[in-house]
Amino acid sequence: MGYDIYESLGISREVYEYGEAVIARLRERFSEIDATAEYNQLKVLKGMQEHQVSEACLLGTTGYGYNDLGRDTLEQVYASVFHTEDALVRPQITCGTHALALALMSNLRPGDELLSPVGKPYDTLEEVIGIRPSRGSLAEYGVTYAQVDLLPDGSFDYEGIRRSINARTRLVTIQRSKGYQTRPTLSVSRIGELIAFIKEIKPDVICMVDNCYGEFVETIEPSDVGADMVVGSLIKNPGGGLAPIGGYIAGKKECVENAACRLTSPGLGKEVGASLGALGAFYQGFFLAPTVTAGSLKGAVFAANIYEHLGYPVVPDGRESRHDIIQAVTFGCPEGVIAFCEGIQAAAPVDSHVTPEPWDMPGYDAQVIMAAGAFVSGSSIELSADGPIKPPYAVYFQGGLTWQHAKFGILRSLQSLVDKRLVTAEAVTKAREKVKDSGL
Ligand SMILES: *Cc1c(COP(=O)(O)O)cnc(C)c1O
Repeated sequence: MGYDIYESLGISREVYEYGEAVIARLRERFSEIDATAEYNQLKVLKGMQEHQVSEACLLGTTGYGYNDLGRDTLEQVYASVFHTEDALVRPQITCGTHALALALMSNLRPGDELLSPVGKPYDTLEEVIGIRPSRGSLAEYGVTYAQVDLLPDGSFDYEGIRRSINARTRLVTIQRSKGYQTRPTLSVSRIGELIAFIKEIKPDVICMVDNCYGEFVETIEPSDVGADMVVGSLIKNPGGGLAPIGGYIAGKKECVENAACRLTSPGLGKEVGASLGALGAFYQGFFLAPTVTAGSLKGAVFAANIYEHLGYPVVPDGRESRHDIIQAVTFGCPEGVIAFCEGIQAAAPVDSHVTPEPWDMPGYDAQVIMAAGAFVSGSSIELSADGPIKPPYAVYFQGGLTWQHAKFGILRSLQSLVDKRLVTAEAVTKAREKVKDSGL
């Protein structure tokens, strides 16, 4: 059973059997991931039942969107799941960067200082903050920024953080996922330690967590360990692959209300904002999100093991515990990055027939190649990969709406490297023997 259908999709027997050997060693990891998904599935279900989600909630409003039952109920469901006082979940929040910018700009005032105690934030936030000068940035409004980098071993620089907290420090931003950096992703419990330390120095500081790619990877969220706000994108984990747009901010009532007044207008706040036709997908996507995230996680663990045993540096490694769904693989040459991305593209349900090419993307200092054949454009909870064409020639891989698809995508990426003779069939066979003998 099994190989025939893979063969018909262009996978060689060596690659297939190597994949099976790796999976045989991952049973325990996978059952841990399933246990987390089970817990989170019930957590979401509980939130939906508690707030009596009804068929009427799935319909949308138009125009001003006053008394939008489905929108208001969904926000309560999010608040239940994240254990927060309130939440803002809207199709008018256009992406993750927008959600983060909204949370920052609405909770900071001129003269305040923003602190990142975990190093440089995600690329797109540089212009929001004004680290790179930009129209409309926080810097233009007189909000200053301080940053404390992680220590070389990845730990928090507690002394540096203590020194940089001052009378003007109003909000601390903590990015959970490593994003496209090499530092480790933070576990929820490490985030909790950091928040406790900061609150001891300054109890009234607002602690915000950029939760992108982290939702449902663990059974607790940063809001369970002291975060005043968690913020993310609905075209990543919590949208479950179904949300066609959107972002969320869950947290303290005061913080969420500030964000609502900035998203709509002072005086209007959460009262307006038609949900249009988005609610059905928001609810169903949130319901599926725990298992979709689990599928992505299995794909990431599988990819780490497949490429690690072939000798490529991978972050996180094949055994590390996971706190987000991103997997980095370093190929050391442009051809490797390109072949990998071509394989991911060829595995897609949409646009599998197109060939991705490196291009000069705005905002990047090198060419970037991206592979994505997604139902929702740009969705990175769907199987996707991208890599800048510059040393060390690493690709960042994430997503997969199902584990089965993520598995096929990884095998297809390896097949692409084999077909281009960047990896030999003998190396694949050798790696399979090594895995079988190792009893990992
Ligand atoms: C994706 C991401 C963002 C930005 O989200 P967009 O939807 O791409 O704007 C911010 N922070 C992290 C850690 C992310 O992964």
